[in-house]
Amino acid sequence: MKKMLIMGPPGAGKGTQAEYIVKYYNIPHISTGDMFRAAIANKTEVGLLAKKYIDAGNLVPDEVTVGIVKERLANPDCKNGFLLDGFPRDLKQAEMFAVMLKELGIDLDLVINIHVDNEKLINRIIGRRICPECGRTFHIKYNKPLKDGICDDCGSSLIQRKDDNVETVSNRLDVYQSKTEPLINYYKDLVVTFDGDRDVDVIFNDIKKVIGDK
Ligand code: AMP
Repeated sequence: MKKMLIMGPPGAGKGTQAEYIVKYYNIPHISTGDMFRAAIANKTEVGLLAKKYIDAGNLVPDEVTVGIVKERLANPDCKNGFLLDGFPRDLKQAEMFAVMLKELGIDLDLVINIHVDNEKLINRIIGRRICPECGRTFHIKYNKPLKDGICDDCGSSLIQRKDDNVETVSNRLDVYQSKTEPLINYYKDLVVTFDGDRDVDVIFNDIKKVIGDK
């Protein structure tokens, strides 16, 4: 039961739970947002194309996104499981994803949905800090690093994501609600919803109970 998607609005703690899950189950974390941020940092063709969409909080065109996901899922390390994070983002991507899964002979096992009420999300996003080196996520109030501004894992200085600002956040939340949230119904037979407004360890324990043994 390890071929999984994780969903949730920006700021729900999806990235943090994703980090816990992939570490514990030793499966690849396929985050389209992380792949785009790495492509931007490395100034690749995909990065140059994606940057303007990401900076505005809009979705990157499907042909770019679907291509990078398919290439990644075809990698042999995904054979025994994976956690896809940030994809599919709307119904059209979900339909393209269904075709892709069929072509690759993959059956999806579980869709993890992290729920947090809308009014709490903005603060959670504005206070978020990420490690530019290893990608680990922190929060200045709810998930503090041991030393202010420094990544617990690799010692790099934490930064704020460029799209984690008040202006972009409300657009991202609107995009999530209008485009991504309908996927909860699309995947209703596979979805399990978790209350994301709890301690990270408590949420992770609940998720483990659903996924099962390593
Ligand atoms: P995330 O890290 O998941 O919040 O993604 C950051 C940004 O990357 C989003 O606001 C989009 O601009 C872009 N992005 C990530 N995943 C996708 C996707 N599946 N389709 C289109 N754009 C995406």
